[in-house]
Amino acid sequence: MTDSAEHHRMIIAGSGIAGLTAAIYAARSNNEPLVLEGPEPGGQLTLTTDVANYPGFPEGIGGPELINNMKEQAKQFGTEIDHGVVTDVEPGKPHRIELRDGTVYTADALIAASGASARTLGVPGEDELMGYGVSTCATCDGAFFRGEDMLVVGGGDAACEEAAFLTKFADTVYVVHRREEFRAEDYWIDRIRELEESGDVEVLVNTELLEIHGSAEAGVESVSLARNPEGHPTEKLDAPETERFEMDVGAVFMAIGHTPNTGYLEGTGVEMDETGYIKTVGGDGGGQTETDVPGIFGAGDVVDYHYQQAITAGGMGSKAAIDADEYLEELERSAEKRLDAAADDD
Ligand code: NAP
Repeated sequence: MTDSAEHHRMIIAGSGIAGLTAAIYAARSNNEPLVLEGPEPGGQLTLTTDVANYPGFPEGIGGPELINNMKEQAKQFGTEIDHGVVTDVEPGKPHRIELRDGTVYTADALIAASGASARTLGVPGEDELMGYGVSTCATCDGAFFRGEDMLVVGGGDAACEEAAFLTKFADTVYVVHRREEFRAEDYWIDRIRELEESGDVEVLVNTELLEIHGSAEAGVESVSLARNPEGHPTEKLDAPETERFEMDVGAVFMAIGHTPNTGYLEGTGVEMDETGYIKTVGGDGGGQTETDVPGIFGAGDVVDYHYQQAITAGGMGSKAAIDADEYLEELERSAEKRLDAAADDD
């Protein structure tokens, strides 16, 4: 354990909606949380324009505005917010928490609320052109490609929402999905069908992206695709029914889901599934956000691969703060008992 490390009663890794809600609750319980903002401060809501389904805002609210309001609310009750990417955690009493810049903190309780980051495909051209026409955030980058044809990869809510958003700027938005059925909820499927009818969107099912062509100077110029009537064409590239073709597009948006940011918990004893989602106790009653390691809690997209909504992340954040508060109180009670016992021995 590092003697010189700054000690905090509670550290919250992540400043998205789960982390900030945890901070509001923790600060109000006098746990003086330190929130560490990672590489994506404010989390995924800062990449959204209007949040129309967050209760309490009948006119909708901008994602960044919602996050800023939460930050103010958390600070008002005594939360400290600092930048810092957690790279390593050594569990204990207290936990040792190391940041990328070498800073070391200790904390009695740690809430992992570090969210999830956008997945990429790993196809040639993707890395080289990321930021030059390839993007994982339509709301952030769509306006840069006004008047161009754009391509969105994915068949979930995010892909549909991003495609609908991009119609504001694009000539045509092509949605490329690897199979026939969309995973997205009915609302989004209907919306995409409407946009298809109006000629703003074209859907390419059973199709996958093989390569993105372009350069940093010229941006994205074209893509290579494959289509197979049975879906998942990249698994059947040599099949006679698989057709390969090229398309000219000016931008490519990846909307193929997210990977949880939990690498720093590897080796700590916190149980995770094969994709890195933290396994918490869950279920009914107290302690739902506890992990296998006493004093480490999980909330939001690091745990939830299913609901992944702003409101559910916030709900889990509040639960984690309450669970952590109960843990800290128990820790104090045990310490007091030990002191009393030691005093009795003297
Ligand atoms: P998702 O539901 O996991 O969908 C990911 C999509 O990407 C799927 O259609 C998947 O195809 C496809 N995909 C994954 N890996 C791929 C690969 N390697 N190559 C080609 N395609 C690939 O993720 P999401 O759309 O980001 O949504 C995540 C959660 O956030 C959901 O719970 C969703 O409801 C929520 N969300 C809600 C809204 C909203 O309501 N406004 C907006 C965004 C997100 P398969 O279908 O074949 O697996």
